[in-house]
Amino acid sequence: MKEVKKIRGVGVTSLKVGARLHFIKKEKSSIGDKDKPSSPERELERFGKAKSRATDQLIDLEERTRRVIGKDEAEIFEIHRMLLDDEDLNQAILEKIDKGSSCEGAIEYACLEYSNMLKSLDDPYLSERASDILDIKEQLLSSLDEKEKKDVKIDTSPYILVAVDLTPTETARLEKDKILGFVTFGGSSSSHSAILARAMGIPALVGTGAIDKVYDGAYALLDASDGTLIINPTNEEKDRFLEQRDKEERIAREHERYLRSIMNKPAVTRSGYKIMIYANIESSREISGAISNGAEGIGLLRSEMLYMSKKSLPTEEELFLSYKEIAEKMEGRRVIIRTLDIGADKQAPYFNIPKEENPALGLRGVRVCLRDKEMFKSQLRAILRASYYGRVSVMIPMIVSVSEIRECKALINDAMRELRERKESFDEKIEIGIMIETPASAIMSEELAKEVDFFSVGTNDLSQYTLATDRQNPSVSHICEENAEPVLRLIKMATDAIHKRGGWIGVCGEMAADLSLTQSLAKIGVDELSVSVPYLLGIRGKVSECI
Ligand code: PEP
Ligand code: MG
Repeated sequence: MKEVKKIRGVGVTSLKVGARLHFIKKEKSSIGDKDKPSSPERELERFGKAKSRATDQLIDLEERTRRVIGKDEAEIFEIHRMLLDDEDLNQAILEKIDKGSSCEGAIEYACLEYSNMLKSLDDPYLSERASDILDIKEQLLSSLDEKEKKDVKIDTSPYILVAVDLTPTETARLEKDKILGFVTFGGSSSSHSAILARAMGIPALVGTGAIDKVYDGAYALLDASDGTLIINPTNEEKDRFLEQRDKEERIAREHERYLRSIMNKPAVTRSGYKIMIYANIESSREISGAISNGAEGIGLLRSEMLYMSKKSLPTEEELFLSYKEIAEKMEGRRVIIRTLDIGADKQAPYFNIPKEENPALGLRGVRVCLRDKEMFKSQLRAILRASYYGRVSVMIPMIVSVSEIRECKALINDAMRELRERKESFDEKIEIGIMIETPASAIMSEELAKEVDFFSVGTNDLSQYTLATDRQNPSVSHICEENAEPVLRLIKMATDAIHKRGGWIGVCGEMAADLSLTQSLAKIGVDELSVSVPYLLGIRGKVSECI
């Protein structure tokens, strides 16, 4: 009788699978004795060839990922291609070769230095890029061997793959029909590999710590919903697990069928209260998914994502074209464009926001826009111009006072005047709203309601500021989960205030997608719930179950 071994990790999807474990040992490219340069000219030539081979492989991977997984996931490899062309990185490699290093050594050390530098910048976006650089390093080193990198392929029946870690490249290369799930010793639920696993619908367990290689080939039950791996289960455990899995899959299929059947019906509670179901998006790429999952509008376009993907400020024309595309694709449904909410956890270096002790309490959102008024007006003009092509609303984040919104409205008027002078068309009656995401804005909601057409509650920040819990800090996240009531009371205050003035209110933070709070939000009387695309169907179904 083999010993049962239970391992815990972070589950990435809520799926279950039972299969044999297959450990893969990755052939890490090592520079070893290859670090003997021939001549700088020869090494430069080798680098050029490796780079072009790596680029071809990335184009292939991007294409394959787009076909098999999805457009958003394919973008990871587009970013890798951009990083492969990064001037600073290329310069550093060339300099090392010039100074006599081999191609292998130059790639290894330049990538490591670059990755460490990005990590030290203390910016979540750039830290992610640091691990992408390491992925590129492996790609370049393996391309030097003049061999096509092989897919992770093992000739056995389907299995659960076990690896120390998987880079996005390796994850995208997994043969989905052979790999029923994967387990990695490292990684977190927000790593790129985890995101890909989720999109591919593969159960995965990450961050398990090292698992003894003696279990290679052993049968195991992977439960990504509760984050466990049971190796060598007893027959009873196995039967119970597989029975439970079949039952859950049946229920999920039936529920999905039911949700699809009500997708195009209004979301109405049993007592007849109608709630609009909108989508939160970051770019036009998410629109088709939003529409095919029944979104009646876009409740939050996080406009800062376009700024963050650029090396310098986007022009009014670039912004306009991107907003116009979204407005047109939504075909007359409402599109709420939130003005730039840069700062705190969302940074772009060219904004020159000084390093702050408490960034969440510092220069962010409307505060940055009111500091850089010309930059703000360029975005306002782009939004106004897009309003000619659909039903666009403008929404200002991080408001704490009446004077701030008045200042914003004055700038909207200036932007309108400038457009009239340029003979550009726009919606003269564009709806103006604010985010309720500071306790001050909820407390002042009676006064603020006189200034705007609508409110949208950003519960992620409203919870952070109300409960004094840093939304980036996992060790206090339970405080938010356990204390919805103070936040619900602030939402009620804002709802009553805006309704009294004839306006409307939505909720676009993560609370809107929390099915355990839908009843409370319906009872408060919110008019709209805006959630990310995967939650659209579920939230519509939940509203129809509410009283
Ligand atoms: C919020 O704070 O709830 C919100 C929707 O805005 P973000 O998550 O972009 O800060
Ligand atoms: Mg917010």
